[in-house]
Amino acid sequence: MKNTLLLFCFAITLSACQNKAINVEKTQVEPTNPEATEIWEPKPQIVSVDISTKIPSDAIVLFDGTNFNEWTSSIDSTTVKWILNGDKSMTVRDKTGDIQTKINFGSVQLHLEWRSTKEVRANGQNRSNSGVFFQNRYEVQILDNNNNNTYVNGQVGAIYKQVIPLVNASSATGDWNSYDIIYHEPKFDTKGNISKAATITALHNGVLIQDHVTIKGTTEYIGWPKNNAHKKAPIKLQDHGDNSGVSYRNIWVRELL
Ligand code: MG
Repeated sequence: MKNTLLLFCFAITLSACQNKAINVEKTQVEPTNPEATEIWEPKPQIVSVDISTKIPSDAIVLFDGTNFNEWTSSIDSTTVKWILNGDKSMTVRDKTGDIQTKINFGSVQLHLEWRSTKEVRANGQNRSNSGVFFQNRYEVQILDNNNNNTYVNGQVGAIYKQVIPLVNASSATGDWNSYDIIYHEPKFDTKGNISKAATITALHNGVLIQDHVTIKGTTEYIGWPKNNAHKKAPIKLQDHGDNSGVSYRNIWVRELL
């Protein structure tokens, strides 16, 4: 009897709380004029876009074809050994190692253009394989995937070994491709455990290939993704070490705060 009475009182209290919550919602008055729902401040920063280069005024230009000033060798932090071409592009110099930005980045919007070799040198993962790594850890794959079969979570536009791209939007072999990628860095708590996963949205030649996907951790060649805490880190371009011949041009980044 006593238990029944307690249960009854609890039910009455819960019901009262629910009614109160509903009443709060009902007390929100529906605006009757357009001004009530207008926000005027703060105004978004003005960003202009260069009509010829298409580079936003608040972007950091990482590579304009004239020098490697923003880059360093990932192997030993010395001068970049890659090839600086006469057409404002650069090409991976085989087996000289990855290159990475001197600046450390967190969340960014990145634009870059890349090109595979015109001639077919190999098959599968060895045909014009490179990649762009965010925070030195998370790779978006670059590969000549035209008539070139490979595992789909390692194909062009894949978050390597993690997320298969929605489509393959590749240019013809030997033609330039563009990547526009929005990357949000992961968050870690004070104990170093991941509290919010990184995400990526990517456009390949203007076509959506990764739609706000979650990164599971580092993009390992062998093994499962890892999630060790880290801070801002460089953006890295891959030397796959198999005469890939991949070229890059027009690389810029906007930091997302
Ligand atoms: Mg790669």
